Amino acid sequence: PADGAGYKRVLLKLSGEAFGGGKVGVDSGIVQDIATQLAEVVHGGTQVAVVVGGGNFFRGAELSQAGMDRRHADYMGMLGTVMNCLALQAFCEQVGLETRVQTAIEMGQVAEPYIPRKAVRHLQKGRLVIFGAGAGMPYFSTDTVAAQRALEIGCQVLLMAKNGVDGVYDDDPRTNSDAMMYEDLDYATVLAKQLKVADATAISLCMDNSMPIVVFNLLEPGNIARAVAGERIGTLISD
Ligand code: UDP
Repeated sequence: PADGAGYKRVLLKLSGEAFGGGKVGVDSGIVQDIATQLAEVVHGGTQVAVVVGGGNFFRGAELSQAGMDRRHADYMGMLGTVMNCLALQAFCEQVGLETRVQTAIEMGQVAEPYIPRKAVRHLQKGRLVIFGAGAGMPYFSTDTVAAQRALEIGCQVLLMAKNGVDGVYDDDPRTNSDAMMYEDLDYATVLAKQLKVADATAISLCMDNSMPIVVFNLLEPGNIARAVAGERIGTLISD
């Protein structure tokens, strides 16, 4: 965006790890806090869509390593994301933020199906739209879905909120105290150095369509609002 102007429409990717606070299940205090921050930015006039992960319940790759058929495991992973969507919706409504959940696997009692034009309409009416069940397809990740949804519903940026890391580093900052954070990166470098941001499918989709990605720390209070306002926090990945 132009200096200080802020984005008009953003896609925020929240990992399942964030929802669980590092444990299995949903940490209501954390989700409540995220809901409060989201209400603030949506009521401030920014259109926000969210893709939630499900790693706090199941990760397909882990279950399949433990002996489960990969496709079953991936569907379990997708269903886990829907539980996070419902938790986020519940807490958003408690703070007066209207929301709609749309899922890539149909489950009419629980959520609307994914209908991109309807999602845009909700955003225009000031509703938070939460996308669940990933792409509805095994072998994909919620990061890739976040990139795809950002493109399809016309978001200006993909905001990737990380659980306790400030941005993209050249090494794991939790194990290497000399690790350096990048402020700017291009997509090709992320892919070539296999930097831990998102999977390669998600990065290459953004690269092919020039979708900028901002990677920032969710646990720093006020960071969602800063990222939405276009402040230079974390790491910016672009052309
Ligand atoms: N998943 C999938 N297809 C999708 C999105 C997700 O099969 O389009 C499954 C996959 O098994 C993944 C799990 O859902 O491990 C949870 O999503 P993810 O790991 O992306 O969540 P996060 O790491 O963000 O918590």
